Amino acid sequence: MSEDLENKKTAVVTGAGRGIGKSIAEALARDGIEVYCVSKTESSCGAAAEEIRANGGVAHALPIDVSSGEEIRTACDKLLEEKGCIDILVNNAGITRDNLLFRMEEDDWNAVLTTNLTSCFHWIKALGRPMTRKRWGRIVNVSSVVGLTGNAGQANYAAAKAGMIGLTKSLAREFSARSVTVNAIAPGFIDTDMTSGLDDRVKEVALGTIPLKRFGKVEDIAEMTSFLCSEKASYVTGQVFTVDGGMVM
Ligand code: NAP
Repeated sequence: MSEDLENKKTAVVTGAGRGIGKSIAEALARDGIEVYCVSKTESSCGAAAEEIRANGGVAHALPIDVSSGEEIRTACDKLLEEKGCIDILVNNAGITRDNLLFRMEEDDWNAVLTTNLTSCFHWIKALGRPMTRKRWGRIVNVSSVVGLTGNAGQANYAAAKAGMIGLTKSLAREFSARSVTVNAIAPGFIDTDMTSGLDDRVKEVALGTIPLKRFGKVEDIAEMTSFLCSEKASYVTGQVFTVDGGMVM
């Protein structure tokens, strides 16, 4: 095998069918990484992987419901059997089920915690061990500024996103001796399907809190992820990077 092929890195990006995750998958593919695009629906991750391939990258679609630990474990067993090790994991899949606490149903709490936080536990548990054996790995967890500040009406989402930060810092310590870095990104308000449905008044108020006076683009998050997954970021671990136009200082 040529050195280039031998050194070719592989990545799993969750929530890669649309929005931030799709942009992250595209950026990693441009960096020469073979990317597995995970999303809930086959059509979504299928189209994302197809677009990457059409642009000269190497990508595969992996339709998985990340709220199921069993689906994650089964997919990872198969991936590891094929590839031996996945070098990069980006936990980006996420949902919102917003409501004020007294109106929030237990189902809304559980769905957000399971999809956004518990999924990270399952992915890292399945893919982390081969990374530590290989003594090289990159794990990036896409949290949110809301995990740092809290937000009325998003107790479930903020708890999940804050949990991702605790998970990131703990695992950065656990994996550091094996050169596996674990970092989190906390996006601010990014223009995607997740935010497009918000009321114009809510958007106007949000814009007023952003010193750079614009909503973020998916590429803003993808560029930071690309850096954290690269060799250049080998001395960076356990950190939370806010990419939010200066909202949280
Ligand atoms: P989005 O446009 O709504 O896309 C979400 C992606 O996650 C989709 O590809 C979706 O799959 C996938 N997904 C959702 N539930 C899943 C499940 N159970 N199993 C597998 N995949 C699932 O979201 P986004 O705005 O790009 O957000 C991406 C991440 O950034 C989320 O974790 C979000 O919390 C975080 N974030 C976003 C913002 C923002 O302003 N947009 C701000 C801070 C943090 P399908 O395509 O198959 O439906």
